[in-house]
Amino acid sequence: MLPLAALAQADGATMRVGLSVRDVTPDGPIWLGGYAARTNASARVDTPLLVQTCAIRGGEGTIVFVALDNCGVSHALLEPTLADLRARHGLGPGAIMVVCSHSHSAPVVDGPLMGMYPLRDADKDAVQRYSERLRAALGEAVTAAMQDLQPALLEHGVGRATFAINRREFREGGVVLGENPDGPVDWEVPVLKVKATNDTVRAILFGYACHGTSIAGPDFYVVSGDYMAYARQHLEALYPGAVAVFLTGMGGDANPSPRGSLLWSKRHGLELAGAVAGVLSRPMRPVKGAVRLAYEEVACPLESPPTQERLEQDAKDPSVHVRNRAAAYLALLREGRPLPTTVPLSLAAVRIGDDLLVLAMGGEVVADYAKRLKRQFATEHPWTIGYAYHVPCYIPSMRVLKEGGYEPDFSMIYYGLYGPFKPTIENLLVSRITALAAQTRPDARSDGASR
Ligand SMILES: [Zn+2]
Repeated sequence: MLPLAALAQADGATMRVGLSVRDVTPDGPIWLGGYAARTNASARVDTPLLVQTCAIRGGEGTIVFVALDNCGVSHALLEPTLADLRARHGLGPGAIMVVCSHSHSAPVVDGPLMGMYPLRDADKDAVQRYSERLRAALGEAVTAAMQDLQPALLEHGVGRATFAINRREFREGGVVLGENPDGPVDWEVPVLKVKATNDTVRAILFGYACHGTSIAGPDFYVVSGDYMAYARQHLEALYPGAVAVFLTGMGGDANPSPRGSLLWSKRHGLELAGAVAGVLSRPMRPVKGAVRLAYEEVACPLESPPTQERLEQDAKDPSVHVRNRAAAYLALLREGRPLPTTVPLSLAAVRIGDDLLVLAMGGEVVADYAKRLKRQFATEHPWTIGYAYHVPCYIPSMRVLKEGGYEPDFSMIYYGLYGPFKPTIENLLVSRITALAAQTRPDARSDGASR
């Protein structure tokens, strides 16, 4: 429980928001992340890539959303930088939430997915330099937003856009990456408007649960923020002076439809911006009160690790990706270290007063989680976010694990992991995030997690 004085201060007038944006567009050719099929570095730039920061303070609590135009980052890449920033700004664990847009047209960064691409030494150097630049930009952006905290009025609403399609197509022989119009998908478009006390719109936070994979084919080597960047550009044109910030939803099994060219990213961006603009044009719900955060890293259980025989067999596989994964596991065995039996995953619940409940999970979270959490927390104004903090792999549901296919199974090869997860993963994650949400209730006993 917060002291009464803090609760009394935590009304609309004392919400504070700080914003900042840094450009992280690569300044030369660099390999782009997300597709194993690319054969060379980028050729040109379409949209700028950004790191955008929105710090929200209510009462004594602060959450710093960091939206990053990238396919996915590892814990190892950012955690040292984030730990420094948290210490400098007096923030607790999880208070800086980096959310990757999952654009498949942004640079490869240092991390486990580097093995997905046939990088030469010069390519690896470019990736290292870019990763360093990303850390520096993130540090600057967080500090600038914390220094920019000023009184703000917040409002929430939800729209809808329908270009995301479930991509798990059932064919004879199994589930393939395609289109499944009957499969679950989260079409909601959550919107948070941030106004200055003079009523001008300072920021528009919005989300959508869909892969950043509009662009392929002839535009495979173009640097772009995909539909998310176009949606931002449209919104910033409609609200001059405002910063539009995209926070990715739980769309690990959703693709944009149609897809395949830069033109589709522009069209989907227009549809998404239209959905957001519709919400902004109508009355929205005020959001105010103390910001309460609860954060945890959960060990997600994998099925038994592979035998040495299996690893030695995989080390001779025709696929370079299978060979790389086996080589990494064999190296662990040689060093006398244990093979992974779990994958650590970040979970967070962020509540603003009684008005908004953000439920965030790391990884490529499939839509079943968004559906389930939104049903469960229907009366608490839930906003579900995926790709939060880090992206160690896909996070399948029980159903998706049972069905098999790319997300629960083959994708693990690229992430350097032997899976699949145990089917208990879904109930484990839902029960942990439910516990975190309970800790953020205004009447919950404070255990230090509500900072
Ligand atoms: Zn993905």
